[in-house]
Amino acid sequence: MSFSTLGLSTELIKVLTEQNYTEPYPIQSAVIPAVLKGKDILAIAQTGSGKTAAFVLPILEKLQGQAPLENRFIKVLVLVPTRELAIQVNEVFALLGSRQMVRLKTMAVYGGVSINPQMKNLMGVEILVATPGRLLDLVASKVVHISEVKILVLDEADKMLNLGFKEEMTKIFEMLPLKRQNLLFSATLGKDIESINEFLLRDPVKITAEEEEGKNLNLISQIAYKVSEEKKGPLLRYLINEKKMEQVLVFTSSVHRADAVVVKLKANGIEAFAIHSKKSQSARNEALRRFKTGKIKVLVATDLISRGIDIKFLPFVINYELPRSPKDYIHRIGRTGRAESAGNAISLISPDEEHHFRVIQKKMKKWVDFIDAEGLDLSGADKS
Ligand code: AMP
Repeated sequence: MSFSTLGLSTELIKVLTEQNYTEPYPIQSAVIPAVLKGKDILAIAQTGSGKTAAFVLPILEKLQGQAPLENRFIKVLVLVPTRELAIQVNEVFALLGSRQMVRLKTMAVYGGVSINPQMKNLMGVEILVATPGRLLDLVASKVVHISEVKILVLDEADKMLNLGFKEEMTKIFEMLPLKRQNLLFSATLGKDIESINEFLLRDPVKITAEEEEGKNLNLISQIAYKVSEEKKGPLLRYLINEKKMEQVLVFTSSVHRADAVVVKLKANGIEAFAIHSKKSQSARNEALRRFKTGKIKVLVATDLISRGIDIKFLPFVINYELPRSPKDYIHRIGRTGRAESAGNAISLISPDEEHHFRVIQKKMKKWVDFIDAEGLDLSGADKS
């Protein structure tokens, strides 16, 4: 199957060719024609499945050539759970729409940064990617109107609910016009998602992109090190040096630990930066940008960014500590092995974590080989 059979115009196909999207992923083959036909969508899809382009492409196609609405009335609203995802989805709109005759104005709005520049820039926007709280603030200030929205997208809807956005989402739904197209994307299908489905969607086309998740996991080579808690730091530095890692995302379970790991890495001459909820939004954006462009070698993160963030060709993910939920483990390691390139996920497992790691492996239906770090000479890992 090729993109040209899905009903997309040549400007969009041109960008896809430039981006080396040679053929559509299954979710794209299913979603793109259905959206073009005006259908509602309920898609169970993880990051890595190609879900973003699955909704971005047909939206760009549909809006092309349409007259804009009155100023500050947006046509497309994409709700997302995090600021990082808002920025990323907006970038995909900008990139895939870059060859269209008339460029559609798209924008991301999210909390944690000053609202004033967002208020000013909303002029003329047709596609808005927003986190729920900030959207409500902007609507209350009357700088954007959502009463004429033609297409609503909920991206990572389950995460939005987990983060406690239910009330904000309900308020937003009440302000939308009755007649519109709804596209719901969620990594899981729970009771809450079912109830949104019943309440929001009209006779949706249902799509599950589960296969892609399995395919993705198979692209990731996983390994675990048995290591005492005190030796995790030296082991991390040993691995970075030994495997000559140029770009690695390290996960910790707390903000405090993320900062501590960075301090130690820097003290030993390894350029690193922490990204977590206590960092300002501009520091987070800057760190992610520098990491993506290879300016920072090691990014140490909490689960804040384990989902939704797409880093092209990231070769290594290290779990310095395990996450509580097996799902988060899969999301974390899913940062590597993306877009059909191989990846490596390494977990540092202390004796206290061994039982929990067994639970995770069972859930993931994959067993991971262990190496005992006791047998490694970690003395060369540190400068001091
Ligand atoms: P997503 O699931 O939307 O986060 O996308 C995962 C990754 O797959 C992104 O890096 C996209 O650029 C890439 N991608 C999406 N669709 C395709 C495609 N048809 N061919 C190649 N890469 C793709």
